Order: sequence, then C-alpha cells, then structure tokens
Amino acid sequence: MQNFKQFLFLFLVVVFNSCGGSDDSPEPVIDKTPPTAPTNLQGDNITKTSLDLTWIASTDNVGVTAYILYKNGINYVATTSTTYTITELNSNTNYNFKISAKDAAENESVFSNVLEITTEQEDLDIPENVNVIWPLSGDSTFSPNSGDEIADGYGPRMLSGNYDFHRGIDFPEPTGTPIYTSLRGGQVVRVEASQPGSTFERWGNWVVIAYPASSHPNPDHSSVFQIAYLHLSSVNVNVGQNISIGEKIGEVGNTGVGINTEHLHFEYYDTIDSGLIQKRHSRNPFTLLPYTTITPTVTSSKSNSVITVNIEQTVPSLDVVEIALLVDEITINPVLNFEQRIGMDINDEDNDTYTDIDGTVINVAPTNFSEGDSMYYLSITFTNDVFSSISNYQVKLTNAKGEEFIY
Ligand SMILES: [Zn+2]
Repeated sequence: MQNFKQFLFLFLVVVFNSCGGSDDSPEPVIDKTPPTAPTNLQGDNITKTSLDLTWIASTDNVGVTAYILYKNGINYVATTSTTYTITELNSNTNYNFKISAKDAAENESVFSNVLEITTEQEDLDIPENVNVIWPLSGDSTFSPNSGDEIADGYGPRMLSGNYDFHRGIDFPEPTGTPIYTSLRGGQVVRVEASQPGSTFERWGNWVVIAYPASSHPNPDHSSVFQIAYLHLSSVNVNVGQNISIGEKIGEVGNTGVGINTEHLHFEYYDTIDSGLIQKRHSRNPFTLLPYTTITPTVTSSKSNSVITVNIEQTVPSLDVVEIALLVDEITINPVLNFEQRIGMDINDEDNDTYTDIDGTVINVAPTNFSEGDSMYYLSITFTNDVFSSISNYQVKLTNAKGEEFIY
C-alpha cells in the first residue's frame, strides 16, 4: 500500500506537470524526509494482560501523522498520541515493543528503542475443597523440588556458624518467584517498603496479612492470626485489600539488610497485632502448612547429672515445638518450648544456653541444615545435679500440630 500511495502521488505530480501548468507556478514539493525516531519507549502499569506505553515524540520537517506500534516485531496498531494502552496480553509472557513515526508522505522513521517486558503471573486457581497451600509452589501437599523446600525451619538453627533463634521458615527460591497467599479470607494489614534508614530496613519489603480464626486449616483453631512475608523483591498488594487463597502478593527477593540469599521468610503469629511484629506471639508456621507429620526419631542418654536428647526428623519438618523430660522420682520436670519460650529467654533468644527456674541448665545444639538436606538434627542437654540420683525418665515431644510423642 505504501508503495502504491507513493506511486500514485508521483503519478499525480507527473500528470499535474504535464497538463499545461504554466512555467511560473510553484514547483510541487516532494517530502522525502522521514520523522526522527521516537525515543525513550517505556512500559508502566504492567498487569497480567496489559501495560501502558509512553514515548517521546518524534519531530518532522512537515509533521508527524502517526506512530506505528510493533508487538513482537509485527505491526500492531497506529496512533496519533504518545501514549497507548496495550490490552489482551497473556499472563506471565514475554513481549517486546518498538515504535516508528510516519509523516503525511508515508515516510517512516527508524525504530525507537526496543522495550522488553513480562506480564504478571496469573493468580492460582485453587479448588474449592483446598483451604491451605504452600506459598511458592501453590501445592496442597508437600512436594520436594517444587518450591516447598525449606532451608531453615522455625526455632534453633546455625547461622554463619552461630546459634540463632529463627522466628519463621525460609524458602530459598530465585528472585522473581511469585508468592501466593496460603489461606482463604485474609486482609492485608501492613505493607512496608525497604527504605534506607527506616525502622524496618533490615526486613526489606514485607507484607502482613491478618486472618479470622475460621481461615485456619485446623477447625479447632480459635484465635485470629497473621502471616508475615519478608524480603520481597516486589509487592502486589495494598493495605486494606481483601485477599484469598492463591492470590499473588509479590515476588521472592533478598531485600533487607544483610540478606545475602534470595528467599521468602515466612512468619506465623498466633494473634493479630494490627500488623505489628511481636516476637512473643510468633509460632511455628508448620501449624498451618500442609504436610504429613513425620514421627521424629529420638535417642536419649544420661550420664550423671546430664541428660542428652537427640532428635532427628526428615524433611519437610523439624516441627517439634516442645521437648519435656518426664521424671517420676523428683519434682523437677524440665521443659523447653520454642513457641511459649519456656526454658529459654525471650529477651535473649539467640543464646543457646539457659538456666530455668529449677536450676536446670538447658543447652540447645542444632546441626547446620541446608536446602536439599534430607534430615534435621537437634540435640538438647538438660543438666541438673538432681538427675544423678534418678534411674528412669521419659522424653515427650510435641509438634506444631499439637501431636505428642513419648520415648
Ligand atoms: Zn528467615
């Protein structure tokens, strides 16, 4: 068409010239100068299906008449504006865009810069009978190698060679991995952006979602609760927004101070503190997450005043929240509880040794665990002179779902 129009134009010029025009009539001007290329093509408000394109206008010796938008190299649409909203895109798909400018003589400029974008991920479509999913894989059961794998569980861990009490669980996945809400019936109560110097800079970008008791997968659960998602690279939700299971809230990142690895840090709080983070209310997220309980393997031994308990558990858990010694012969029955903070100092959680009110010294020794390991190990020693005289004791473990195991 362009060639035909140019041909027609030239033909008319020739006809005009050969049809008795006088020698002093003005020469017709043939515009052969294309517009300058549009520049700074940008995409904003990228959604699952659309984005807004903007660019800086071209100039032309006569005048720009249209901009031609190319989607993945194919002429898509023409517009006279310097903005355009592209719609009907597919979710989670790569696209490239470029534009050119035309003048009335159909001279086309060279192309602008090429803009490459990826549309947003679609929310997950969760079946109605599913009430809880893992936050990265979206699975309703634990599936190794699908994003469910955990690098650090709740409670004692080794961090860079030091004992650390971890108030959440870590899912190591690459930056940009979508994060989905695990439960129905939530409301976003807090969104914090990573700001240098801000109170919460060390946590990066983070989101808190509050839930009524009825959202809890355990039907016997009676209290409101909240979930916090930390270190996000991007956040897709706003405070006050109602949000249900499988909706994307943001993407995995490593924002925050000293966060070297890309991961989602996932916290569970057994109350709603208006989005506040109160460590005394933090609980093991395995209370919520769907998996089949794995019976821990426990060995214990006594040597004079020292009782040592060794716990092994295969992935996905270490879901033990309480270790208790049951001793009949004396009145001292030491308890270590990582949720109620019994047998540890909530104001000094990163101290691996604690003396309880009965004078029992409790030492906690987790083994370093990393993603891909198949077993967790935790060793606890209870030391008290009165243990020298006893002959029998039992060990009772309680897991995050309230199940008890006696050894
Ligand atoms: Zn963490």
